[in-house]
Amino acid sequence: MKKQLLIFGAPGVGKGTQAKLIADKLEIAHISTGDILREAVSKETEMGKLAKVIMEKGELVPDNIMIGIVRDTLKEDKCSNGYILDGFPRTVKQAEMLDEILKELNSNDICLINIEVDNKLIIQRLSNRKMCTNCGSILSIDAIEEPERCPKCKAVGKLIKRKDDEVEVIKNRLEIYHNLTEPVLSYYKKKSIKIISVDGSKTIGDVNLTILRELKGYYNI
Ligand code: AMP
Repeated sequence: MKKQLLIFGAPGVGKGTQAKLIADKLEIAHISTGDILREAVSKETEMGKLAKVIMEKGELVPDNIMIGIVRDTLKEDKCSNGYILDGFPRTVKQAEMLDEILKELNSNDICLINIEVDNKLIIQRLSNRKMCTNCGSILSIDAIEEPERCPKCKAVGKLIKRKDDEVEVIKNRLEIYHNLTEPVLSYYKKKSIKIISVDGSKTIGDVNLTILRELKGYYNI
């Protein structure tokens, strides 16, 4: 069975971190729609220019743009062995369109990983993190031992605070999550797909172990 995973949860629950670990372990592609958009922003493409304004406010890029990006990406060779979608779908419309895309690709078996963390901890985590513009890592400020040096790729002077990690923007992102993205979970709960729910307040290692244990049972690996 092709491994087609969705990783779901509010901003700051650790989706990106877990998605990378899972992708490495299962040897599948990590598709982060946020990363794809940030790359378009840094390359100043037409889509990037549009996305920049929306992302800085913590709002959602229109569904038709996102669906186009995901449709194109899932058809790429890098996804042939499976993939984990991180940050998509974020609206019920996107979830419905993903169903269509999977039908087109003749592979509609998906598994959803749902990471749960309470709002207070999310705000604390998001306002306490930086991003390395060299390697794309998202880092907790506590993990940065030498000021200005990325602990992952060692680049110096590349650590920034994402504009969408400012407190006011975080609140907006959480409200949008609650209104537009949470209904996506109900959408999938009505379907008979495998859903793995995990407590994201635990350590990165513990969360990862729980997810991998469940995935091993499901995919027989
Ligand atoms: P992320 O890195 O997943 O937190 O995404 C950063 C930002 O990119 C979000 O706050 C949105 O503005 C935009 N974005 C990423 N994925 C989507 C999506 N599936 N639909 C709409 N906007 C998105």
